[in-house]
Amino acid sequence: MNEQVVLVTGGAGYIGSHACVELLQSGYRVIVVDNLSNSKIESLSRVKQITGKTLQFYQADIRDKKALAEIFAKEPIATVMHFAGLKAVGESCEQPLNYYHNNVYGTLVLTEVMAEANVKQLVFSSSATVYGEPSCVQYVEDFPLGAVNPYGRSKAMIEDILRDLSVADKHIQTKSPWKIALLRYFNPIGAHESGMIGEDPNGIPNNLMPYVSQVAIGKLEQLAVFGDDYPTRDGTGIRDYIHVVDLVKGHIKAIDALESEKFSLGGCKAYNLGAGRGCSVLEIISAFERVTGRKVNYRVAPRRAGDLAEFFANPELALKELNWKVEKNLDDMVADTWNWQSKNPQGYV
Ligand code: NAD
Ligand code: UDP
Repeated sequence: MNEQVVLVTGGAGYIGSHACVELLQSGYRVIVVDNLSNSKIESLSRVKQITGKTLQFYQADIRDKKALAEIFAKEPIATVMHFAGLKAVGESCEQPLNYYHNNVYGTLVLTEVMAEANVKQLVFSSSATVYGEPSCVQYVEDFPLGAVNPYGRSKAMIEDILRDLSVADKHIQTKSPWKIALLRYFNPIGAHESGMIGEDPNGIPNNLMPYVSQVAIGKLEQLAVFGDDYPTRDGTGIRDYIHVVDLVKGHIKAIDALESEKFSLGGCKAYNLGAGRGCSVLEIISAFERVTGRKVNYRVAPRRAGDLAEFFANPELALKELNWKVEKNLDDMVADTWNWQSKNPQGYV
């Protein structure tokens, strides 16, 4: 068993809570820092119930340097998994300063404290949104970046900052170099198979899968399918959906890689975490109806501004260097989403 201590920022959130389960089940000790701005503490009680293990929770904002420094002084942290951030594209266009302050400044404070504590192993939640609009729909890590909204740009800026940190090491030839994995997520959906933790969006969901499941359970009346005139196989948008449990397993593999010979001299490297195949909106609806036996009431609506027709990951680098690939299929993602939604129709409340 692994007694290494991992600090999980944003650990009470959707992906972070699943990461806590996976870390605890892999034998890590877990410390969570979360300001609960978009999550409930109940998620962490559920993590403890699922795993039968305990974790340390600090309610703090990652921008609060003093609070973070105290945690690093007290706890023997070896690695940071950095999930804390704001994530809604539309909201980021309305509140860009809030997004840059929370995501970019928050990461600056975190990495400053890490450097001062000489903790230099970091797994960062990046996003496929950093790619912008490449001409090829299967994204490879070395495609040029070009995010098109403040949320995506905040992730791209953080990637730049982390790459700069790693390059600076080479100039000063430090003995403990930064080891950083930038994990570019495609479209995480699904929930832990227990149905005890899952995605609990505030208000009306922006993303497809929580919207579909809230229509199926009767909380929302009708799904709007944003456009059926895209140049795709059925006219609706195509995305690379990935089960959240597969996604967090990728994070454990990233820690393994950062501790391997490959990163012995340090480095900062980006990896796509996706399935490598796309599903259309209509395919999601039909899988949902088939797997759950529930009808999904929908209508076709105009395209949503800023949406691309189709993109999905090329996940070969993650397979080659992290020894990771997805194990779950669309039916698993739908079944686990529904299990969570039907057991928790009001989320964690
Ligand atoms: P989430 O909102 O459920 O979780 C984020 C957590 O961070 C929340 O618990 C929130 O309270 C906390 N938080 C936010 N700002 C904080 C701050 N300043 N200090 C302390 N805690 C703070 O989101 P999620 O879906 O779990 O996403 C986790 C990460 O993955 C985010 O960085 C997000 O941008 C990234 N990501 C998510 C998706 C997705 O579709 N869910 C896709 C790509 C990347
Ligand atoms: N989508 C939709 N109706 C919704 C939400 C999303 O038709 O209510 C479509 C959207 O246009 C895209 C796909 O579903 O083609 C995935 O959208 P989501 O917001 O979940 O992810 P992202 O846009 O970040 O890829």
